[in-house]
Amino acid sequence: MKLFYHPDQAHHAPGAFLVRGQLTSSPEGPVRAELLTKGLESMGLVLHEPEDIDSPRLRSRLASIHTPRYLSFLETIHARWRELPGASELVMPNIHPCGGGHHYPRHPVGQAGWHLHDMACPIGADSFRGVLASAATAQAAAEALIGGHGTTYALCRPPGHHAGPDRAGGFCFLNNSALAATVLRERFSRVAILDVDLHHGNGTQDIFYYRNDVWTGSLHVDPADFYPFFWGGANEEGMGEGLGTNVNLPLPLGSDGAAFLEALEALIARLEAFRPEAVVIALGLDAHRDDPLAGMTLETEDFFAVGKRLSRLAQPAVLVQEGGYPTEHLGDNLAAFMNGFSGS
Ligand SMILES: [Zn+2]
Repeated sequence: MKLFYHPDQAHHAPGAFLVRGQLTSSPEGPVRAELLTKGLESMGLVLHEPEDIDSPRLRSRLASIHTPRYLSFLETIHARWRELPGASELVMPNIHPCGGGHHYPRHPVGQAGWHLHDMACPIGADSFRGVLASAATAQAAAEALIGGHGTTYALCRPPGHHAGPDRAGGFCFLNNSALAATVLRERFSRVAILDVDLHHGNGTQDIFYYRNDVWTGSLHVDPADFYPFFWGGANEEGMGEGLGTNVNLPLPLGSDGAAFLEALEALIARLEAFRPEAVVIALGLDAHRDDPLAGMTLETEDFFAVGKRLSRLAQPAVLVQEGGYPTEHLGDNLAAFMNGFSGS
């Protein structure tokens, strides 16, 4: 398996985010990549660096899944924010268009509130470079699959599956899994994204909700009790041409490995019915019992079983790293998944 990582991802290092009213240390930082890399290196795996983190083809593909104004916002907002009197170092808006706004504002505070869906997406001076490096890593892995490398892995941070067409959320800015699927669609007519992160992949769902060429499926903690709260119900099945090509399997808060694997089996049955030619696996590891986001109770060996089951998919896959936050087990969890996947 060919694996990819770009060190410029570390340029996005926001340090803090707001949770339950408290400004606190963010679990989504460069240390995640270090821990995940250690897990891969313990298996003797080598990470390859994408050739570049910015190119016309990356911009063109991103423009097919995100709006032009959102991409422009991500690139320019930090400088515009810092010109405001008394502005903080990090872009963190204090107002959001709850229920949807009627017009798109010109002012940086209004635009930040429009595009940053929650308080987990602060933007620093160098964030955009880090976010682009994460996306370019997913792109490189998908291009390598098309180029004949078989299944590939992209170590992407920040993650991407909460990022929708016009907004960031849940530590995510550009949707890396959707980007990988976009690259695969250039070769294959039917592509699926299977999301095993602890959280619902609401951004991915939004991007493909009206399309029938990219199937999206997610198992996650029931949003009635957990982030992202407003999306991820079993009744969200796609719309228009996309009706029937979005599958959500919410699980109770605190679910264990057995429940997770049973739901995975059901999700794979739905995926196979779609008959995709290639698959993106949105690989979150935050369902572990010690993960600070505390939603499920999987053990490290459960990730081995998840990897083993996913290795039996008939299609080639791009594995895109989503969540999974710093604990002493994070690297081991990725290694367990990879060991299961590679049959060792
Ligand atoms: Zn997650």
